[in-house]
Amino acid sequence: MDERELRLSRQVYRLRTFGLALGFLSVASVFYERGASRAAWGLLAAHGLVWPHVAFYRARASADPHRAERANLVVDSAMGGIFVALMAFALLPSVLLVAMLSMDKIGWGWRFLARACAAMAVTCAITALLTGASLRPNTSMPVLVASIPLMVAYPFAVAFVSERSGRMARERKKAVEQTAELREQLAHIARVGTLGEMAAGLAHELNQPLTAIHLEANTVMELNPAGLPEDVQESLSRIGEQSLRAGEIVRRMRTFARRGQAHREAIHVGQLVHEVLALLDHDLRLGGVDTMLLLPETVPPALVDRIEIQQVLVNLIRNAMEAMTAPAIAERRLTIGADAANGHVRVSISDTGGGVDPAVLARLFHPFQTTKADGLGLGLSICQSLVEANGGRVGAGPHPQGGAMFFFEVPSVPAQPHS
Ligand code: ADP
Repeated sequence: MDERELRLSRQVYRLRTFGLALGFLSVASVFYERGASRAAWGLLAAHGLVWPHVAFYRARASADPHRAERANLVVDSAMGGIFVALMAFALLPSVLLVAMLSMDKIGWGWRFLARACAAMAVTCAITALLTGASLRPNTSMPVLVASIPLMVAYPFAVAFVSERSGRMARERKKAVEQTAELREQLAHIARVGTLGEMAAGLAHELNQPLTAIHLEANTVMELNPAGLPEDVQESLSRIGEQSLRAGEIVRRMRTFARRGQAHREAIHVGQLVHEVLALLDHDLRLGGVDTMLLLPETVPPALVDRIEIQQVLVNLIRNAMEAMTAPAIAERRLTIGADAANGHVRVSISDTGGGVDPAVLARLFHPFQTTKADGLGLGLSICQSLVEANGGRVGAGPHPQGGAMFFFEVPSVPAQPHS
């Protein structure tokens, strides 16, 4: 749970304890007046003394604290319903208890409020049925006095925390939307990149046979121009032409897939690294990978296309994660570093996996080189194309502490001349 959420959770916890203390006073005064049973006192004590702690630890331990908090609030309302019936519907405390338990749900939306109220009504009805409580709504002076703090202090505290909680929920929603947008952009560029790289790979692979067909056809025509029947000559020249055309089509496909305006801007690579890590956070945690960042603030901003460099980072980090999945690897550490050199920013991504397989080492950045059963072998060649399109270069080497180290360099923003 992040620090701010933990703080909020603590505030809600304190508020609940505070509200419970006030509610406790009112309910206890009614119980006392009516000589409530031991079970009723026991329940009140559990609600006042045990429940706030349980609720707090539930929210803190949960992966989704907002969800846990909502569940806690519904339980809270349900317990309130029990007390309303146990107090035999004493007018003022009952109204206050219901108002108080509803108030702190308003910040969570009307549907949630309705759900919490329904929980309260159900437990109230069940308790009334079980205890045979009759409707005797009266309020005596001591109960009225005990209810005053409830009326005065609690609404203010609730309003304060609800406002903060609402603001945080809005911020969280915005962050989720931004992440979704980024994910979509990255997926798009990955698709375009894969297409481009496939076309590039195909162009490269097909170029040779197509050139050979063209040459062979020409050679036959040139070797014996007179001895060939006219229709054979025509066919041969068409073969030559069509093979050239085929080569041209493949080349055009490659250019088309690569088209698209890069939008370069001055960005700190550290920021890009943080954004990408937020995106991959779940996978990193799932893979048990520790991340170490060496991103000094002195590194100047780079002049790059944000999405393209994020894509490069995603590919390299994913490869590093995949290299560290073997169960035999005891320490899974991903190190991302950045430094500045010769007008460039250099970013390195190292892992503690098994290192690069010698079988692919020589042609690591060529398309279709893979050692993975389900790999396409395009990730690194996409990285190379993207980094080169941003005026930089990529490379790889062994990591001093074992594993692999990949790096890329991109131009940094030139320092402003002193005037
Ligand atoms: P793919 O991931 O689809 O195989 P890539 O182009 O991303 O394609 O990678 C090509 C190959 O390079 C991988 O199959 C793997 O053998 C090797 N490789 C890439 N990154 C690493 C790494 N961090 N550690 C070890 N090998 C790697």
